[in-house]
Amino acid sequence: MVQNFEIVIIGAGPAGLTAAIRLLEMGHSVALVEQEAFPRPQIGESLSPGVRPIFDYLGAGDLLENPQFLHNIPSRIAWGGGEPALLQPGQRGAGLMVDRADLDARLLALAMSRGLRVFQPAKMAGSLFQNDRYELKIQSTEADYHITARVLLDARGRGGAHIHERMPLAPASVALWTHVPAGAYEACIETVDEGWIWGAPVPGNHYRIMAFTDPESLKGHSKACTMQRMQAGSKLFGQRAADTLDFDIKTCLVSAYVHTRPWERNFIKIGEAAFTLDPLSSTGVEVAMRFSLQTAIAVHTMLADDDPVIAKAFYENKLAEAVASHQRWTSEYYAEAAKAHSPFPFWEKRRGFRTGEIEASNDFTALVKQRLMRPSATQAAKEPAAVPIDPLIRFLWDKPVHLSGQLAFSSEFAVTGDRVEIRRAMVHPNLPRPVVYLNHIEIPPLLNALDEGATYGTAIETWCRHFPYGDVKKVLGFLWGAEIVQ
Ligand SMILES: Cc1cc2nc3c(=O)[nH]c(=O)nc-3n(C[C@H](O)[C@H](O)[C@H](O)COP(=O)(O)OP(=O)(O)OC[C@H]3O[C@@H](n4cnc5c(N)ncnc54)[C@H](O)[C@@H]3O)c2cc1C
Repeated sequence: MVQNFEIVIIGAGPAGLTAAIRLLEMGHSVALVEQEAFPRPQIGESLSPGVRPIFDYLGAGDLLENPQFLHNIPSRIAWGGGEPALLQPGQRGAGLMVDRADLDARLLALAMSRGLRVFQPAKMAGSLFQNDRYELKIQSTEADYHITARVLLDARGRGGAHIHERMPLAPASVALWTHVPAGAYEACIETVDEGWIWGAPVPGNHYRIMAFTDPESLKGHSKACTMQRMQAGSKLFGQRAADTLDFDIKTCLVSAYVHTRPWERNFIKIGEAAFTLDPLSSTGVEVAMRFSLQTAIAVHTMLADDDPVIAKAFYENKLAEAVASHQRWTSEYYAEAAKAHSPFPFWEKRRGFRTGEIEASNDFTALVKQRLMRPSATQAAKEPAAVPIDPLIRFLWDKPVHLSGQLAFSSEFAVTGDRVEIRRAMVHPNLPRPVVYLNHIEIPPLLNALDEGATYGTAIETWCRHFPYGDVKKVLGFLWGAEIVQ
């Protein structure tokens, strides 16, 4: 018997499960195919503080309260030479160390309780796209299934992109990792001549050590030798160099890239199947989940409004933005450390890497390249001044409102009620990015509605016919602080 779904997701990592939970919530029929039986081991245990609001948003916040997970871990950082600095847990937000096998399994169970149909352990044995639908053959240990879907979400992780489909965003890099018996209750990060090393306690009374280096460093050397050599040149990991020889060392390529065709014929990539981040940020899980939330909105817009053009453009823009902001952030950190470790190849390659030389092969990769080359908007924009609003309103009440001569408008994507729409947005040198809404109030129509000769008093009275006075005050304070109204 053929089972029909609107969306089929391949892969039950954080990306696939986030998309599943949101799309079910939006009323779609969703199935998921996962090749492994859960719980299965998975790397990526250090979760950044930004995952908490995402889990809360999914109604899954309590999954992070597992008593086995580790919280409040201080960090010792020696980046680019110099003496290690100790950061107390609160200083970088409240991240945590989890057991991914356990967390992914519980998130999957939660999605199933919300209506997700799961084939596991199972694999896609064949697919055919015809009449705008995918016909899929799923092979599991129990039986073969035939299912159909309008949209296929590829959440297979790194396995979702072949080498020739990857647009590289940084020089190649390889990770070596193992765990040793638990040591100090602190995370450590340190740069060494051959790359950098990270370590942190993990659930199960172990200490994870991970070294990142150029693939050349491994040529002619065993994994254990390479790791031991890197640790031997380190202040923070030197004492444990001998330990790592005794433990099983794993390795994989961790080069940052973006898929060159992430959305084709409703076959849409999310999470690490779409793009991989440089491991430096330790935000892989958070960024994968956030991008899945955006993709869920794009898919919902396509299915509900039958508008694939705007949905795909929204998705591609969000992907290009995420890639560019991350690339900019990591290259700044690498450039800082390269000064201390020149002329070693890992650092020289990063110093010499030019985004302008990345080749664009189609419209999507050209968009990525354009975003990579664009100067960071947040650097250019100035923070609006905090304004004591009540005295300001009394002072301005009878004065005419002047709009800044530098104010312009552009068409931008805006998300309203889980759908993407095109809206007019304010553009101004003092704004980090085009702005449609402030405090849930759409601003361009408010500015357009200002009559010739309007005073602040008449403007406030007009706006208060539609919005509460408290919100109008906040909007006015922001516009004045950013010098959009003068
Ligand atoms: C060495 C290393 C260290 C990392 N450290 C961190 C870290 O500390 N913090 C952090 O936030 N991120 C880290 N990351 C990144 C993090 O692991 C990923 O960002 C995150 O797991 C991506 O989630 P995902 O859902 O896209 O893919 P995954 O978590 O990889 O999930 C993919 C799922 O798809 C399944 N699958 C694959 N192929 C198929 C198929 N053909 N059919 C069916 N199912 C399939 C897999 O079994 C798996 O369950 C690290 C990555 C690496 C490589």
